[in-house]
Amino acid sequence: MTPKIALEEHFMHPDFFDYFGKTAINISPDLFGKAKEALLDFGERRIAAMDVIGVETSVLSLAGPGVQAEKRVETAVRLARKVNDYLAEQMVKQPRYGGFAHLAMQDPIEAANELERCVRDLGMQGAMINGQTGGTYLDDDRYAPFWERVSDLGAAVYIHPNNPPEQVHMYHDHPELFGPVWSWTVETATHALRLLFSGTFDRFPNARLILGHLGETLPYLLWRLDSRWEISNRGDMRLAMKPSEYFKRNIWMTTSGMCADAPLRCAIDMVGADRIMFSVDYPFEHPKEAGDWIEAAPLTEAERTLVCHQNARALLGL
Ligand code: MN
Repeated sequence: MTPKIALEEHFMHPDFFDYFGKTAINISPDLFGKAKEALLDFGERRIAAMDVIGVETSVLSLAGPGVQAEKRVETAVRLARKVNDYLAEQMVKQPRYGGFAHLAMQDPIEAANELERCVRDLGMQGAMINGQTGGTYLDDDRYAPFWERVSDLGAAVYIHPNNPPEQVHMYHDHPELFGPVWSWTVETATHALRLLFSGTFDRFPNARLILGHLGETLPYLLWRLDSRWEISNRGDMRLAMKPSEYFKRNIWMTTSGMCADAPLRCAIDMVGADRIMFSVDYPFEHPKEAGDWIEAAPLTEAERTLVCHQNARALLGL
């Protein structure tokens, strides 16, 4: 079995169930109920789920949206610190756990300070951000100091899917499309493209962004992004490189929640085997399914080693 690092692996803190409840509209009540128990466990159950597929290190993150859904900024800041301290305790108890910081994005400077504390003092590898916060995306000017700190720290920022600020008309009579089946993909891919086209990666060339689900369909579309960007109504937007080139410098992708050979090959062929990293999305996906799939996927052994652990080790400094 190829040794693995997994980095979209979730946990829950008992005080955060109210925020997590906002996700209940997106998934079946059955899965939501089952996930609760697994999310709270940092012991044998989680370690057994890692061992069965050779995961040596799990980088843990709070199941969203967490305090990003909190209206009171001070409460968000306070609770983010609390959950990061809690995760750090678990990382000390079990050295096979890494961590992505949970941040109150309502206050960009506090978020930057907390990221720095989590990376420098608590040994975390970066942050996971659950999509928009109060309708604001990460390309907003207010986040310039945040990206500056991200770059200085060499930390990775993982954009995890979340719902848009309002449910658009198109989904009203199709609740099954609102969530992981479709709307999360649209929301998260668009979020990444907002960062790219706003020039965030020109201003912060060392910024490191991670997307789940093999890049939220974007590898498939890279040729078209380059081609249609040329003729788009882009006003005074300028980019230093072609859109596709940022995917080879600033963006990494995980296999979370995607166990299909053709999209994996597509992602590797379009952005390179050094950008793709194995993940499960525990406990919302089955570790065995993800592990068995990557072991048998049509990769060279060198590619499999990169995807299973070498890329994550290099990116996150594990
Ligand atoms: Mn997830």
